[in-house]
Amino acid sequence: MTRIAIIGAGPSGMAQLRAFQSAKAKGLKVPEIVCFEKQNDWGGLWNYTWRTGIDAHGEPVHGSMYRYLWSNGPKEVLEFADYSFDEHFQKPIASYPPRAVLWDYIKGRAEKAQVKDQVRFNTAVKGVSFDAEGKLFTVTLADYANQRHYTEQFDYVVVASGHFSTPNVPEYPGFDRFNGRILHAHDFRDAVEFKGKSILLVGSSYSAEDIGSQCYKYGAKQIYSCYRSKAMGYRWPKNWTEKHQLLRVDEEHAYFADGSKAKIDAIILCTGYKHHFPYMAEDLRLVTHNCLYPQGLYQGVMWQDNPQLFYLGMQDQWYTFNMFDAQAWYVRDIILGHITVPAAAQRAEHIQQWHEKEQTLESAEQMVRFQGEYIRQLIAATDYPSFDIDAVNKIFMQWKKDKQDNIMNFRNKVYRSAITGKMAKPHHTPWLYALDDSLQSYLADNPQREAM
Ligand code: FAD
Ligand code: NAP
Ligand code: MG
Repeated sequence: MTRIAIIGAGPSGMAQLRAFQSAKAKGLKVPEIVCFEKQNDWGGLWNYTWRTGIDAHGEPVHGSMYRYLWSNGPKEVLEFADYSFDEHFQKPIASYPPRAVLWDYIKGRAEKAQVKDQVRFNTAVKGVSFDAEGKLFTVTLADYANQRHYTEQFDYVVVASGHFSTPNVPEYPGFDRFNGRILHAHDFRDAVEFKGKSILLVGSSYSAEDIGSQCYKYGAKQIYSCYRSKAMGYRWPKNWTEKHQLLRVDEEHAYFADGSKAKIDAIILCTGYKHHFPYMAEDLRLVTHNCLYPQGLYQGVMWQDNPQLFYLGMQDQWYTFNMFDAQAWYVRDIILGHITVPAAAQRAEHIQQWHEKEQTLESAEQMVRFQGEYIRQLIAATDYPSFDIDAVNKIFMQWKKDKQDNIMNFRNKVYRSAITGKMAKPHHTPWLYALDDSLQSYLADNPQREAM
């Protein structure tokens, strides 16, 4: 029997499980699937852990999410086309759910599909190699629940281990004598730690924006953020100053390119992540920076040098869950033989065309449209339900505008679902004052009364 290994049970791996289950539900014969997940539950980054550094088994902690994290884009841009938010929650909810609420949603579809028994939890993939003669992969596994190492063979491998977990950690002069804490966003867990403190954020992307916003919300005294190439440029609260390039630090100050300095208690490096697949044999290992069309992946998923190997979710992410779905359905149909893959030279040409197109993109709108178009083409080739990508692109643009208008208020906005056509319902408490990020509090119709 044909066997498929999926590495990781985050949103991408779960999409792959659901894709095969939906084919099976339609009466198709599907291969044996084993999904390996090193954590003890599924959901990937959405499965919060307080741990940092090394986990209980000596593996690098995967989690980069922190307490009080809310979706940074509207839920309407990531909604599954085959499982709406309304279906899951059985009532309208607001547009920017906290982490626990999105985790619940992701799990809801997978539980309905009854695919959990295909996941081997507490099992880390330690090696993947390919035997060109037998045309099989050998996957080496550490089963921490039973304290044993073993290997198994597979016809196909789908890498879905994410790429926002291994931190990119630069060093600036003076870090070795700074008196406060220096941490990467990957290890940030709780903004309350920085209440009353002055912090420096290095970086100008989503982590800097959101970790700074969390720290502001939970009472940081002073926030400095500094950018290397492009300022975030939002209208920040009074106690948040955006600076250009950090030059160096001493025991208690940061020095910036404009000649100014600031007294700080802690430094949070919001400097992004590395695509990191130490377990993949070198000839199978994706090497890329964080971009919209990583090279070496036909249709963004199939390893150019080995059509039995796939990567999911390796793109920089405007679209997320629905893009992983589009990819997972596409990979499924290649494996099932429903999609004919062209010869290597044509695949290379196709990749090159998309790569060149990516190089011409300048604005956020162009990037969103580029990724939307990519998804549209994948979806057209499979039975994944099509949805109005143009409408979703427009939600992205409205979201960008709402952030420009008021960075501390955009999470109070609501949008219309492209899946159900229904409007979201405003949340009971403005984001800035909603300090309890639990599922219970978020879903409560009347939190004051329900707390009594
Ligand atoms: P992941 O979620 O990273 O899951 C990968 C899984 O693989 C994990 O469960 C991990 O344990 C497992 N794994 C890794 N290595 C191994 C191994 N060797 N063996 C076995 N298992 C392994 N997206 C949004 O749409 N909205 C947001 O608001 C949002 N917020 C984010 C906030 C942060 C701080 C970060 C870092 C990302 C955020 N994202 C957000 C983007 C996020 O990448 C996606 O939402 C999504 O989690 C990606 O899914 P994935 O399955 O590809 O990867
Ligand atoms: P990112 O988008 O890759 O951005 C990395 C940032 O680090 C860029 O600003 C980059 O600057 C900067 N940088 C890199 N090396 C640097 C150096 N040596 N010195 C100074 N700056 C440096 O990474 P991210 O912000 O961590 O976001 C990752 C993912 O997490 C995204 O998908 C995001 O949506 C998600 N996320 C979501 C939330 C949420 O609220 N739900 C919160 C955090 C993160 P340059 O532009 O100069 O390269
Ligand atoms: Mg379709």
